[in-house]
Amino acid sequence: MDYIGKHPDELGKFGEFGGMFAPEILMPALNELKEGYFRYLKDENFIKEFSQILSEYSGRPTPLYRAKRYGEFIGCKVYLKREDLNHGGAHKINNVMGQALLAKKMGKTKLVAETGAGQHGFATAIAGAYFGMETKVFMGEIDIKRQAYNVFRMQLLGAEVIPVKSGSKTLKDAVNEGLRYWISHLEDTHYLMGSVVGPHPYPLIVREFQRVIGKEIKDQILRYEGKLPDAIIACIGGGSNAIGAFYDFVNDDSVNLIGVEAAGEGKDTNKHSIALGLGRKGVLHGAMQYLLQDGYGNITETHSISAGLDYPGVGPEHCYLKELHRLRVAEATDKETLQAFKNLSLYEGIIPALESSHALAYLEKIKKEFQKDDIVVVNLSGNGGKDLSIVKEHIQFKIDPEKYEIQD
Ligand SMILES: *Cc1c(COP(=O)(O)O)cnc(C)c1O
Repeated sequence: MDYIGKHPDELGKFGEFGGMFAPEILMPALNELKEGYFRYLKDENFIKEFSQILSEYSGRPTPLYRAKRYGEFIGCKVYLKREDLNHGGAHKINNVMGQALLAKKMGKTKLVAETGAGQHGFATAIAGAYFGMETKVFMGEIDIKRQAYNVFRMQLLGAEVIPVKSGSKTLKDAVNEGLRYWISHLEDTHYLMGSVVGPHPYPLIVREFQRVIGKEIKDQILRYEGKLPDAIIACIGGGSNAIGAFYDFVNDDSVNLIGVEAAGEGKDTNKHSIALGLGRKGVLHGAMQYLLQDGYGNITETHSISAGLDYPGVGPEHCYLKELHRLRVAEATDKETLQAFKNLSLYEGIIPALESSHALAYLEKIKKEFQKDDIVVVNLSGNGGKDLSIVKEHIQFKIDPEKYEIQD
């Protein structure tokens, strides 16, 4: 397939998906961002500075680790791309450092972002502290209560967490409030988008900052195995870790690209986040995409055990790759995900994020498709430390006092 470098088009479209469905008042800011992007992303000094930050501050390149014991359990060669080892514990750092650096070059002094569970807010707060940029994070009042630990982490890094009391008091409303704030502070403020979503040029910009994942995978697997992998599996929320891992392989037809969405309590219930698999075309947050919506076009409630996948839409490029039959769209339930979470912890001593565990869960479901010498790469997007309080509600260990008695 001859794909790389050709999408999106000048209107920001991936086929019929994406675009700039933004209010008139935002257009100058989006156009300014587009100009900034095309100016700096070809600039040698910018590229050098960005990759230096990633290596010195975030710890890139992250390892591509051959998980031998887990691979034996699956029945093929399994490699894990260790994005969980980045500073901050996830791939999100690649994007926030890139966007904050770009904003700074464009003369902006402040960052604004929205956050649901707090992971993107935390990453933005890291970038704000690193670059000395004032940072505001909009967060629904309900999410603030649910995610006290992340709120505290953001505050420690100097970010101001602003409670959103409108609507359902969750992510969707935080986005609206964040955009409203941005509209009245366009001069000095950059809106730091958390995934490959939103109006053009965000899906393009975020993809380019996350591409480092796939570039490293390609370089590493060719060194270790002398050939390309048979499949790459990644979870999809908005889709940034997945497109980052996939993009540099899109032209390589032999590499299966598999994106895994959150099936929550099951695809037959209405408690899931399967936007790509079950959504209908519609516009949300400035872009045409597959969306979970009711008959009237209202966005429906979503559910997933992992907060990072709990989003009613999905990045436009994934919608297009699905339509081109280049992306295999898959899903895993909460239950399957918890099992995979346990398996990787036991076999490898690595506690994966619940988001990443969806990718592992799907590999476990389709393990019969692979032969002993096949190579599968799973993008381990984040570390599971943040998820332990949720997992603890589902997995319990009893300490049996009998076993600890000293025998004579
Ligand atoms: C936020 C997050 C995701 C989901 O976001 P994408 O844009 O789909 O990558 C996945 N994994 C982890 C660890 C996250 O923190």
